[in-house]
Amino acid sequence: MSNLPKWNLDSIYPDINSSAFTDAVKNFKEQIEQLLKINLNDGDALQSIADFFKVDEKTAPLANTLAAYSYSVYSTDTTNKDYLDNLNKIESLITEYENQLNTFSKKLSDSSSCLEEFYKKFPQYKKYEFYINEILADHKHRLSPAEEKLASTLQQTGGKAWDRLHEQLISNLRDEQTQKLFNELRNDAYSPDAELRKTSWQKETALLKQNEIAFAACLNNLKGETTSLLNERKWNSAIDRALFSSRMKKKTLDALIGAIEESLPDWRRYLKSKAEYLKKHNATVSTSCGINNGIAFYDMYAPLPDCDATASKTGNAPSKNTSAPSLFTKSWTFDEARDYIIKEYNSFSPRMGDFARMAFEKNWIDAPIYPGKVGGAYCQDFYVQKESRVLTNFTGAFSDIITLAHELGHAFHFNCIKDRDYKNAVYPMTLAETASTFAETIVKQDILKTACEQDKIKLLELDLQDTCAVLVDILSRFYFERSVFEERKNGGLGSEDFCRLMRDAQQKSYGDGLNDERHEYMWAVKSHYYSVDLDFYNFPYAFGQLFSAGLYSRFKKEGSAFASVYCDLLADTGSMTCEDLCLKAGFDITTKEFWKTGIDMYVKEIDEFCKLAK
Ligand SMILES: [Zn+2]
Repeated sequence: MSNLPKWNLDSIYPDINSSAFTDAVKNFKEQIEQLLKINLNDGDALQSIADFFKVDEKTAPLANTLAAYSYSVYSTDTTNKDYLDNLNKIESLITEYENQLNTFSKKLSDSSSCLEEFYKKFPQYKKYEFYINEILADHKHRLSPAEEKLASTLQQTGGKAWDRLHEQLISNLRDEQTQKLFNELRNDAYSPDAELRKTSWQKETALLKQNEIAFAACLNNLKGETTSLLNERKWNSAIDRALFSSRMKKKTLDALIGAIEESLPDWRRYLKSKAEYLKKHNATVSTSCGINNGIAFYDMYAPLPDCDATASKTGNAPSKNTSAPSLFTKSWTFDEARDYIIKEYNSFSPRMGDFARMAFEKNWIDAPIYPGKVGGAYCQDFYVQKESRVLTNFTGAFSDIITLAHELGHAFHFNCIKDRDYKNAVYPMTLAETASTFAETIVKQDILKTACEQDKIKLLELDLQDTCAVLVDILSRFYFERSVFEERKNGGLGSEDFCRLMRDAQQKSYGDGLNDERHEYMWAVKSHYYSVDLDFYNFPYAFGQLFSAGLYSRFKKEGSAFASVYCDLLADTGSMTCEDLCLKAGFDITTKEFWKTGIDMYVKEIDEFCKLAK
């Protein structure tokens, strides 16, 4: 596509060689020096804590902004050596800064009994109470500095090395016959070609089986290391640690999981209905697809075929006699995308609409595809300048509009929180996708109202496909990981064990929504299981999806008055637990009922999809 705008970063820093940027780096170095000079070991403890905060109020946002800027320029020109060198330089400065933060958190912990006195003496830092309490709670799970240092050194050749090995194995797997890389085979799951979907799934699982000993060794050793470290650090379980970093209670997790479990019959109904639809339109080669048999694993992400007679078994030919133009065949210009998103955001609140308009007008978006630029899309916030930028690879497809709406949703979140103190503006993974998913939901729900029938069933299906992955597949991953931690306590696990646990997890979540063509090697596919720091990197996704659906249903009930409640809620996401945040906005997320209000929106979509698919 021509005439697509690139972003303008001038107001952040004009260039990595500009005086604005080099001065900022110089400032950052000086601040690290100042932090080093603060005597945290002797002298007046409370005074030294206050001295540290005074400098760190400037250092923390600067560290974040320099890193964000350095990554942003690199991401649009990844072969530029200067950009890469600059990124590495900033990262090593940040490591130095983080070492200071670690010493500081020890000091805070040693002084925890005199915090009341600290707040009395320095009332200006009372606003950091939530942050300080979190550091103290985290500190209880830290080993001595020497032990932590040894653990992190050994982890380089332990857990982290297993993680890297898994990544290297996966990215180098190649099918001999087609010469396709593993990730290309996986992408075929989205192909309209039914035969291709099945053969690629067969090739994918065969490649994983060939390498199962290595994959199982990676996972077994990594989870073994994690289990030992969690014990040493006095965590009761991996879930407890994951909940702590998600700022959420076990009771809330139980309510969330319970609500998803209760909705499983609805999701299975959707999967069976999709299987039947594919079968009816000759768009599957699975022999056991259909209403009483669930869908084949490799058909779950299949695009729906057009339902007129010309649609072929392998093609997805556009309908010849549609009256309204289809959203899916239309090629969108960037200007059309802009107007559309502004209009949709406006339908929720003028503040959000004005924000989107400003982002477009000020060239905050990097849209074209060009050599050296990273794929996908992301949003980056710059705390010092109180601005954001969005990177996307715009092709004019309908999905690009949704992506843009999603990323600008993140930017809007930052716009609501940017005036809080930096320490109170950093939010956990559970709340990170709230604003983006909410923005997506506004657009999707609005389009459904006016779409032609052909588009409507496809739109519903796309939304259900995504949500099914975020709820049902995520639930299977949660079950799998929980059982791995349970069994790993009693000894080593091999490939057969992991396959068995994955089969059980899929049966408990998908049940008869899937037919017997499944994927017992999913444990070897998902990289999240192989992260040393992030166990259970699954339920936060379900949290985000259903939380924003719950917010959306409240907006439908309350109308435009809800917009200001919403902005206030986003502004608080960095300074409260999930429970307190939601309670302030009038939700009790420790109850199943709250999560059901989010699920209900999708159950209605399932009802409608099943009706249209008949
Ligand atoms: Zn996102």
